[in-house]
Amino acid sequence: MSEIYDAIVVGAGPGGSSTALGLARGGAKVLLLDKFDFPRDKPCGDFIGRQAFKLTLKLGVPSTRFAEYPALTGIKMQTPSMRDLDIPGLRPGANSRVIPRAVFDTALVELALEAGAQFKRAHAQELILKDGQVTGVKDKQGDLYQAPLVIGADGWSSVVARSMGLHLNDKNTTGVAVRAYFEGVKGLDDKVAFHFPETILPGYGWLFPVGRNGCANVGLGLIAEEYSKNDKGNLGELFERFIAQTPALAGAKMVSPKRSWPLALGWQPNRPLIGPGTMLVGDAACLVGPLTGAGIYPAMRSGLVAAETALHALNLGDFSTNTLKSYERRVRREFRWRLSAEAKAQYWLRNPKNMDWALCNPLHLPASISNAITTNLLFNLG
Ligand SMILES: Cc1cc2nc3c(=O)[nH]c(=O)nc-3n(C[C@H](O)[C@H](O)[C@H](O)COP(=O)(O)OP(=O)(O)OC[C@H]3O[C@@H](n4cnc5c(N)ncnc54)[C@H](O)[C@@H]3O)c2cc1C
Repeated sequence: MSEIYDAIVVGAGPGGSSTALGLARGGAKVLLLDKFDFPRDKPCGDFIGRQAFKLTLKLGVPSTRFAEYPALTGIKMQTPSMRDLDIPGLRPGANSRVIPRAVFDTALVELALEAGAQFKRAHAQELILKDGQVTGVKDKQGDLYQAPLVIGADGWSSVVARSMGLHLNDKNTTGVAVRAYFEGVKGLDDKVAFHFPETILPGYGWLFPVGRNGCANVGLGLIAEEYSKNDKGNLGELFERFIAQTPALAGAKMVSPKRSWPLALGWQPNRPLIGPGTMLVGDAACLVGPLTGAGIYPAMRSGLVAAETALHALNLGDFSTNTLKSYERRVRREFRWRLSAEAKAQYWLRNPKNMDWALCNPLHLPASISNAITTNLLFNLG
């Protein structure tokens, strides 16, 4: 007979480790499953926005852990018409940083384990159900893990969401992105750079400084459907072209493999986030910003809210959708405005002319667009 837990969290990214942390601190017996041991790489821009960074420190990760990754001081942009803009950070000390996910995610997992969560490397395959109610998880080896609550924090391809019968992302709401680390990158000066060449629209290329030694996370991302429709070449070719046409990368050396990854941009206000004995958090709940591609803060916040709801359900001994409904309500209320505004802005900015105009005239934009594109927003998200 396998051990029985109060809750199982599938996936130990920022969403899963925050959930496990909240549950363990509330006294629950929680198992955190991931198909990889940590530290592990996760293809990402590694941009930890002000909200995510602040929350990480508040949860208890000491800032010294990230001492080699300085606070960002502003944003550089290159418009579709190749105009260069240099925008200082709107909030001094905003504290957004670029921290490799291997470092950031491991810090959060360790915090959850210190609080008492147990970790197991296991590749979850499906939910176990009895009379329609979740009773645990089965992994690819056939091993069973039992709990009355299973939280799906297993990213864009979530097996938990699939087991709940939820449709995952379609092409129109999926982003595709590719990323590699470079050394010898010039001129970033603690600023993140966003480039909007016509070849990448609707999407953008980025150069994010990792520390102060000329190392940068370089990548590009765009909407999957537009990308396949416009015959832009494959993602690798687009990336090579972006590298060749970016002066800051002249003479720089790629020091990691290129890795590509999808982005779950398909937030829908009415997509279910719960089932009998289950909740979805982070990318599994499609909480990534459709415009910015930032999803670390929503993953952490939704994880903490899921943990609070789970503790309440454990207290009641009731894991029905009725009890878990408050999680869905709270997450929708917290993120609906922001995700809808980003989705609208992203749609409007698919047109290169609009993008060019928006970047050069951010203060004269229609309110719904300008709210979603100012640098203040870029610094706050993530
Ligand atoms: C190229 C790229 C760049 C990005 N850049 C940024 C950025 O700069 N800033 C930002 O805020 N966001 C960015 N994002 C989005 C961000 O990466 C995600 O929103 C964030 O990682 C979501 O966290 P999560 O915990 O929900 O999921 P994830 O971080 O994806 O974690 C899911 C975890 O689940 C595990 N897992 C998956 N399936 C299973 C399974 N079946 N069994 C067991 N374990 C499983 C995985 O190994 C993983 O550890 C980017 C995304 C991409 C693709």
